[in-house]
Amino acid sequence: MGELRGFLKVERKTTESRPVCLRLKDFREVSIFVTGEHSQEQASRCMDCGTPFCHWGCPIGNYIPEWNDLVFRGHWQRAFQLLAATNNFPEITGRICPALCEYSCALGINDDPVTIRENELAIIEYAFKKGLVKPSRLKKRTGKKIAIVGSGPAGLSLADQLNKAGHLVAVFEKQDKIGGILRYGIPDFKLEKWVLERRINLLKKEGIVFNTSVCVGKELKTKYLKKEFDAICLAVGCGVPRDLNIEGRTLSGIHFAMDYLIQANKKVSQELIPSDKLIDAKGRRVVVIGGGDTGADCLGVAHRQGAKCVVQIELLAKPPECRTPDYPWPKYPLLCKTTTSHEEGGIREWSVSTKKFSGRNGQVKKLFCQRVAQEASDGKFEIKADLVILALGFLHPEHNGLVKDLGLELDSRGNVKTDENYMTKVLGIFSAGDMHRGQSLVAWAISEGRKAAYAIDKYLMGETYLPKM
Ligand SMILES: Cc1cc2nc3c(=O)[nH]c(=O)nc-3n(C[C@H](O)[C@H](O)[C@H](O)COP(=O)(O)OP(=O)(O)OC[C@H]3O[C@@H](n4cnc5c(N)ncnc54)[C@H](O)[C@@H]3O)c2cc1C
Ligand code: SF4
Repeated sequence: MGELRGFLKVERKTTESRPVCLRLKDFREVSIFVTGEHSQEQASRCMDCGTPFCHWGCPIGNYIPEWNDLVFRGHWQRAFQLLAATNNFPEITGRICPALCEYSCALGINDDPVTIRENELAIIEYAFKKGLVKPSRLKKRTGKKIAIVGSGPAGLSLADQLNKAGHLVAVFEKQDKIGGILRYGIPDFKLEKWVLERRINLLKKEGIVFNTSVCVGKELKTKYLKKEFDAICLAVGCGVPRDLNIEGRTLSGIHFAMDYLIQANKKVSQELIPSDKLIDAKGRRVVVIGGGDTGADCLGVAHRQGAKCVVQIELLAKPPECRTPDYPWPKYPLLCKTTTSHEEGGIREWSVSTKKFSGRNGQVKKLFCQRVAQEASDGKFEIKADLVILALGFLHPEHNGLVKDLGLELDSRGNVKTDENYMTKVLGIFSAGDMHRGQSLVAWAISEGRKAAYAIDKYLMGETYLPKM
């Protein structure tokens, strides 16, 4: 365990963020990274409870109390080895995971939980700095070929695991760069893209072949994959956005969040966007419809682009600030989340239904809204807008294209149905990540990728030495 009674001596102290006035001038990461003594002190708070619920709360089952203890004692290399045993990309979860584990930390019952996510980041960044994260050289290959479609966190963890098992792995990605939502959804102020490049370079050196700008089902027929590969795993995400089909929806200036974020991320990476396609918040009155994390990312981007003002509206009521009896410890609670983007400005409104858009010369100018809890006559109000971003969540994966071509079965929510071994109803074709689970989180996508890799290796070889999770 950490220091005996460490939690009585040391208070939780999270790392600081860059001042708002500075961070709004660029897209660089908001958090100031710290490691060393700060992390050791924070790790000392871990009580190493008999049954570690943090481990239960983490989708990838990280050995949290064990590596907290190693960090406290300064055994960083061993902490890294233990972390790498369960998490393919701790430098990513350490930056952007909502830290489900911390809501299950026993200290959180009557005190502040251990800074688990930040300790995870400190371990992996120490390992990179000291040259401990090296490409592993495989002595023997199995000769089996596996195609992975989609290069988000599910596809990448699948590729990493199956490559380590000795198979030849080819990843196919329709975008021109690897990473899925990590690349084009999540803004740099949460995850700078060199972090992703560093990992992808390692995966390439280990022998994984990446094919970009290839949309499977369009440019590349599924027939070809079936003929050329011993197994296929589909991890194309859950990309069909929820729409708001109300009067005025076809006015220009109303966009889906991902269309906005993909462009914004490309611009930050110096990729050229044709001027007639450009969605830019500069000098505009922006309304983000949808109060979740994607909406918050749009808010942060709009402020950095120089929006005149930003309003974020949500249909549901404001969630509570503290746990309610519906979400007792150690469950992950539904709470009102204030992200770093919210600290930067903007107005947040809850319990608001958008009834209609109106415009001038085909361009959106106004939203007609209604406060949900109030009488129709009392609760009406209008918001002026030049740019409206729809961040209403995602329904399911795209059904046309490869899902249809392969004749895959869907579950009741429209996601791809598999058996308990991640295999679809078509022999040798598997599915993992958001495409299978529905819209979720990076840690869950990694978890799905690892579990599917275990099942695929077993399917191909009859047995597997890969970890089950
Ligand atoms: C804006 C936004 C912000 C988020 N922020 C966070 C966060 O801070 N923390 C967190 O934990 N989670 C976050 N999430 C959720 C998280 O990003 C997803 O759960 C995760 O990326 C899902 O991983 P995946 O690999 O299943 O799919 P994706 O990341 O969606 O990757 C799927 C990939 O498949 C490719 N593809 C699709 N069709 C084809 C085809 N036919 N051929 C070839 N390639 C194809 C896509 O281009 C994409 O690259 C966020 C989601 C969004 C939208
Ligand atoms: S992946 Fe997320 S839930 Fe798991 S230990 Fe890291 S921060 Fe916690």
